[in-house]
Amino acid sequence: MHQGIMKAWLESSHLSGANSAYVEEMYEAYQEDPSAVSDDWRAVFDNLPPVNGTDTSVPEPAHSKIRDYFRALASDSRTKTTSRVTDPDLDAKQVKVLQLINAYRFRGHQNANLDPLALWKRDAVAELDPAFHGLGAEDMDREFNTGSFAYGNGTMKLRDLVKALKATYTESIGAEYMHITDTEEKRWIQHQIESSLGKAAYSTAVKARLLEGLNAAEGMEKYLGAKFPGAKRFSLEGGDSLVPMLREIIYRAGEAGTKEIVIGMAHRGRLNVLVNILGKRPAELFDEFAGKHHEDGLGSGDVKYHQGFSSDFETPGGNVHLALAFNPSHLEIVNPVVMGSVRARLDRRGSDDGLQVMPITIHGDSAIAGQGIVQETFNMSQTRAFKVGGSIRIVVNNQVGFTTSNHHDTRSTEYCTDIAKMVQAPIFHVNGDDPEAVAFISQVAVDYRNTFKRDVVIELVCYRRHGHNEADEPSATQPMMYTKIKKHPTTRKIYADRLVEEKSLGADDVTGLVNDYRDALDKGDCVVKEWRPMTLHTVDWSPYLNREWDEAYNGSIGLDHIKELAAKISYVPETHKLHSRVEKIYTDRGAMAKGEKLLDWGFAETLAYATILEDKKRVRITGQDSGRGTFFHRHAVLHNQNDGTTYLPLRHVADKEGPFDVNDSVLSEASVLAFEYGYATAEPAGLTIWEAQFGDFANCAQVVIDQFLSSGEQKWGRLCGLTLLLPHGYEGQGPEHSSARLERFLQLCANHNMQVCIPSTPAQVYHMLRRQVVRPMRRPLVVMSPKSLLRHPMAVSSLEELAEGCFRNVIGEVDPLEPAKVDRVVFCSGKVYYDLLDRRRKENIDNVAIVRVEQLYPFPHEELEAVLADYQHVKDFVWCQEEPQNQGAWYCSQHHFWTSIPKGAQLSYAGREASAAPACGYPELHTRQQESLIVSALNLK
Ligand code: AMP
Repeated sequence: MHQGIMKAWLESSHLSGANSAYVEEMYEAYQEDPSAVSDDWRAVFDNLPPVNGTDTSVPEPAHSKIRDYFRALASDSRTKTTSRVTDPDLDAKQVKVLQLINAYRFRGHQNANLDPLALWKRDAVAELDPAFHGLGAEDMDREFNTGSFAYGNGTMKLRDLVKALKATYTESIGAEYMHITDTEEKRWIQHQIESSLGKAAYSTAVKARLLEGLNAAEGMEKYLGAKFPGAKRFSLEGGDSLVPMLREIIYRAGEAGTKEIVIGMAHRGRLNVLVNILGKRPAELFDEFAGKHHEDGLGSGDVKYHQGFSSDFETPGGNVHLALAFNPSHLEIVNPVVMGSVRARLDRRGSDDGLQVMPITIHGDSAIAGQGIVQETFNMSQTRAFKVGGSIRIVVNNQVGFTTSNHHDTRSTEYCTDIAKMVQAPIFHVNGDDPEAVAFISQVAVDYRNTFKRDVVIELVCYRRHGHNEADEPSATQPMMYTKIKKHPTTRKIYADRLVEEKSLGADDVTGLVNDYRDALDKGDCVVKEWRPMTLHTVDWSPYLNREWDEAYNGSIGLDHIKELAAKISYVPETHKLHSRVEKIYTDRGAMAKGEKLLDWGFAETLAYATILEDKKRVRITGQDSGRGTFFHRHAVLHNQNDGTTYLPLRHVADKEGPFDVNDSVLSEASVLAFEYGYATAEPAGLTIWEAQFGDFANCAQVVIDQFLSSGEQKWGRLCGLTLLLPHGYEGQGPEHSSARLERFLQLCANHNMQVCIPSTPAQVYHMLRRQVVRPMRRPLVVMSPKSLLRHPMAVSSLEELAEGCFRNVIGEVDPLEPAKVDRVVFCSGKVYYDLLDRRRKENIDNVAIVRVEQLYPFPHEELEAVLADYQHVKDFVWCQEEPQNQGAWYCSQHHFWTSIPKGAQLSYAGREASAAPACGYPELHTRQQESLIVSALNLK
């Protein structure tokens, strides 16, 4: 087989025995590093005969043998190829020609004409000069084999080859892809861009479409500039090609079968995209500029350049639903949100290969290089839980960092896009002033994404015509650049002149376009002719709109039924050999299912999922240890100790059940939480959970909590039923593993924006999770979830409590105290309850009642007041918490307690002293503090 490959190769090349020294040299390089030689050579060496004639994995190392082998093959091929006359000089040059091709593929982009302003100072790349390879004027008219170069017929005069290489690699497109190790992908890209010399022969209709896009981009900004002078609009001008680029991407995707596209972008150019791509009515935007508040608008609203929008867009392949995600000012954080939204839509459509829904993220040059969330999102892109079949990532590089900075200050990499190499994404740099190159490479990008299901990057190299916002004076900080920009014609003008010159359009057509667009803006109606009213989106949010947290939730499913489910999820096939510790857990679950044992936390939680799945709803859980559970309590994924296969009992709940996805996440909080937020805002029906390994790690995702989770509904009217499980509890594990920073969540609570719960029993966690799905309200649920409580002997529940009960926002006294004797009521939440109860029982105290508040927000006033009905005579109320005084619920929730306790009664605090750190690091000190707060709460002397 290998002999066949080599013979074919030798016959089609100019190599002969005379080149064996060169081959040997190359072979040495190959032995050191196989990637140091070209793909062709690697294929040859990979197929060399084995050392011992049988082991095909070891190439022959002895050079003399290599030499002999090539000599033999070459002479063999010569005797059989009578027409071939060898020329040793030509053969040596042939190799150099292949090296020249390789040089263009590797480094052509560094000398491409990418900057419309011609300000980029880039050294000439020596390897792109034929002379560097020893190829001179005398070689220019010689015919060479062009190897895998995809243009032409396999041989070319060197002069023509150099021209073709320049046209492909150093004009308006800088194709950077040789960092990809997969040969098929590289060959695919080479075929796409080399076979047409990096250009498309567009019809007049397509050219007119591109000009229309530029006309719209420019016309819109000019119109806004004239109508609202000085108002912030974060103009796209300079990057106008973004509009035709997006249009071509949508067209291409639609033709390939894409049904939905979710777009994420920051503020620059957003108004333009809203009006010229999404089809937002200009009149609506003008109202926003005028500061009008729509009475029918949701909540407090947001500035116009953060707004999202949805519409359908007609393409020859069918309508494509477009959704521009709402986003805050925090650059790049919307990316994982978009990916999550796409994944939810793909899951819903069962489009496992990602074809039907495509993400487009639009980045700034400084942001993509500067923000760590970009790396996190790239890292997710091929993982089981987060992959979306690749994303199209567009970087609008306007050459001014954000406000006034230049790239020397904003990155240490050559390109702003270098981060994308971590996932071997191809990166296409393109000159924004060449709309046809922009269109061509956009189509290649879509095809690449759809073929290989991987991320691809387009860097639109452009400029910023005005300051950061329209009131800024950019010449103050970028004098040279802006001297140039002021004289630089717009992209529309450059392209219109080109089309007129080549007679694709008449000058009148161009003027007509400008006037028509302005007239359309005057009318205020949608200016996107492909715009169609939304019909495609498959989720009906109406059942979830205007729902409140206090709507009744009926959790009953009947005892027999729950037993049946319990039996199913505690069954493991005999052939599936469990680890002994896991086996013990499942044996216990079997006993719990039969009612022989009270239920622990892990089983009750699992049962909640089973009921949801049985109802054909999806359950999706991600987090760093979600399959097993950080504290070894969940074991939703069972690993066979004999062969490593997995078995998920929750996938065997019913014949037709909802999908159960439990996946260990990448080691990140911000991107994972943002992804799950995106998922839950696009999938209201099921239960979506993000679980932190320890609750305090949610710190790393604070931007998602602040900017999306807690405020998204108020700002943008976007509902989100995401559940956060945040392990929390003071067990002496030190400052970093004790607190999920309850106080921060409580401080963000207002307008009933989310629920903050601290369930204290297995039945409570069961009902809390079910309630989140069964009740049609979709608002985030933040849970301080337990650690030691997972195995606390007192934290157990009966099957009956699950079968018939419901979530109790407040749980009153459980012991048979005589209310009249009670002179102190202690309120608490979470694990401390058991410490208090245990101690009270041990000390036989009968005058202190303990009341658990299981939902701290929205505060359950009515339920608490009902529980307090028996204690109206009590004057002494205490809030007891494990957290330091400046943390936990004390400061954020005490006003609720004050309003619930009888008039004239006092409320005091029992807990740790205020502290800068969440917890102490010394176990002994921890124990002393814990003892002291229990003593204080129970009034023990
Ligand atoms: P999309 O598929 O994201 O474009 O959404 C289509 C429509 O569904 C939107 O225009 C909204 O009316 C509605 N919708 C989508 N997501 C949400 C959400 N998270 N909360 C409320 N309504 C939503």
